[in-house]
Amino acid sequence: MAGEPQNDCLFCKIVAREVPATIVRESETTLAFRDINPQAPTHVLVIPKAHHRDAAALAAAAPDVAADVLREAGAVAEDEKTADSGYRIVFNTGTGAGQTVWHAHAHVLGGRGLTWPPG
Ligand code: 5GP
Ligand code: ZN
Repeated sequence: MAGEPQNDCLFCKIVAREVPATIVRESETTLAFRDINPQAPTHVLVIPKAHHRDAAALAAAAPDVAADVLREAGAVAEDEKTADSGYRIVFNTGTGAGQTVWHAHAHVLGGRGLTWPPG
């Protein structure tokens, strides 16, 4: 069921502290931790603690939590001193867009020049 922890979900396991991660921020509804394979000097994932398969499903089921994820993504950029120079918030959605973990997550990327359009 949407929102309930999923036994086979890596990010639910990180929320439950069953899988270790370098956590940089936590709120009542969200967790932010460093990506294990960083693509930029700052590469942090911000996730809802509740399980939703992607950003759109999260926004449909729990719009307040979707807003929390965006607020925390901005706070990560501030913490990492990338807010002034610019940063990117990315939600890969679907296999063709590179989504590999089916628990909604915002990538916060910064600390280097970011080209547009992305690959
Ligand atoms: P996606 O490809 O779904 O947009 O993003 C999933 C992200 O999760 C990838 O950037 C990948 O490097 C990251 N990731 C995969 N496994 C782990 C893990 O065990 N710990 C952490 N911290 N990140 C992970
Ligand atoms: Zn999950």
